[in-house]
Amino acid sequence: MISARMTNAAVYFRAHDDLREALEAFRLERGVTLSAAVVELLALGLEAHSDGPSVSDLQRQVLQLQAELAKRDADVATARGELQHLRLGYHALEEHLKRADVGTCPTCRAPTSGYEFVVTRRCSACNGALSGAPPARDSAALWLIAGIAVALLAYAAVQQ
Ligand SMILES: [Zn+2]
Repeated sequence: MISARMTNAAVYFRAHDDLREALEAFRLERGVTLSAAVVELLALGLEAHSDGPSVSDLQRQVLQLQAELAKRDADVATARGELQHLRLGYHALEEHLKRADVGTCPTCRAPTSGYEFVVTRRCSACNGALSGAPPARDSAALWLIAGIAVALLAYAAVQQ
C-alpha cells in the first residue's frame, strides 16, 4: 500500500478542466490539499489496479455469463416448444376420446365415450359412476382407449 506520508518527490502532470474540477471537489470534500487529494486518489487507483480483477477479466466473465444466459434462454424456448407440442397432442387425444363411442352406461344404458370412461369416470347422461373396463363393442377399440389413457396419464405426470 502506498501512503501519502511516503510521498516526498514532486510529480507534475497536465489535467483537463473536468479532471481538475473533480480533483478540486474531492479535495474540498476531504478537507485536504490538492496535492494530498491527488496522492490519495493515485494510491487508491494503484491499489485497485494491483488487487482487483482486471477489466479484461471482468469483461471475460461478463461474456461468459452472457453466453450461459443465452444457452439457458435457448433451453427454455426448447422446453416451451416441447410443452406446446405435448399440449397439442393431449388435446388431440382428449378429442379422440370424446368422440370414441366405447359402450353403454351400466346404470342408464346410454352410449358412453372413452372420455367419460377414462377421464371423468361419470356418465354424462345420468352422472352415474363408470368404473372398471367399459363394455367395449370391440377389443381393438378397447386397446386404443387404453393406449390413449396411458398417454393422458403420462402427460399429466409431465405437467406436475
Ligand atoms: Zn348413465
